[in-house]
Amino acid sequence: MVKILVAAPIHPDAIKMLEEAGFDVVYREYPSVEELKDLVKDADALVVRSKPKVPKEVIAAGKGLKAIARAGVGLDNIDVSEAKKRGIAIFNAPAAPSRSVAELVIGLLLAVARKIAYADRNLREGKWVKKECLGYELYGKTIGIVGFGRIGREVARIAKFGLGMKVIFYDVVEPPQDIVKALEALRLELDEVFRRADVVSLHVPLLDSTYHLVNERRLKLMKKTAILINTSRGGIVDTNALIKALKEGWIAGAGLDVYEEEPLPEGHPLTKLNNVVLTPHIGASTIEAQARAGIEVASKLIEFFQKETR
Ligand code: NAD
Repeated sequence: MVKILVAAPIHPDAIKMLEEAGFDVVYREYPSVEELKDLVKDADALVVRSKPKVPKEVIAAGKGLKAIARAGVGLDNIDVSEAKKRGIAIFNAPAAPSRSVAELVIGLLLAVARKIAYADRNLREGKWVKKECLGYELYGKTIGIVGFGRIGREVARIAKFGLGMKVIFYDVVEPPQDIVKALEALRLELDEVFRRADVVSLHVPLLDSTYHLVNERRLKLMKKTAILINTSRGGIVDTNALIKALKEGWIAGAGLDVYEEEPLPEGHPLTKLNNVVLTPHIGASTIEAQARAGIEVASKLIEFFQKETR
């Protein structure tokens, strides 16, 4: 019988699917590396989320491991090259969180443009900061999407059809023309996106070529009234440059879900600024995204083992 070790909470429907497919499902929430080394010994597959860590020693201990599934996107916690070396298949669910991240982008954007978080903080302290809360409307403004992939396009859709914004974008790859046409989107050079956009939203993966893509020079290209949203990866933005830009008014504000250092250290300079809204990497943290992620990897595992035993 195929044994699946589920080492992180996944949606109950996903567990049910695995059990109904005839697998022996063992559940242990976030075991330590030592515990995992023991648990994985006789497992055929291991299911994780962003935790627990699956380093080389765990993979080596899983003598019968044939697959590792990440119920989500990032594979940072898994030693993928070691798994590949040993011929272990890796599955994830890259599309599962797209809509949730896109909706958070809009939430952050509105919170910055209308100073919602600032107003809420002050009101709780008995301060009626009405005069300080003059904001921006988004209708008719231009959103610049950097990285026109799954999330970038979803943000573009909501921005265009939900808020009446114009869409410009930059991507290294040319996206399908029907999508570009439907969104009446304009593909521009990267610097031009920073110059023209009222809102810049980042949706590229973290690579050598995208590390600190948002630096002092690019922040200075932006309009003084512009807003930067980062829900991609912290390393895409040079944090020190952003702090300078926010303090000195090169841009109006920023909304961030990801940081160069996570968790964001207590008392970090970003937490002292009123024109930034901060969330603790919650882009994919919705019931729906987690359900989709669990169900997608369960389906992939079922298909994989059905082929294996054929
Ligand atoms: P995707 O692969 O669908 O899209 C990324 C796009 O970026 C692609 O179109 C690709 O061609 C483009 N790209 C790659 N290198 C580029 C470069 N140098 N310049 C411009 N474009 C480039 O990915 P996605 O699912 O849309 O995810 C986008 C980002 O969101 C990733 O960084 C991912 O880690 C992050 N993410 C964050 C959360 C969260 O919780 N905040 C959740 C999921 C994903």
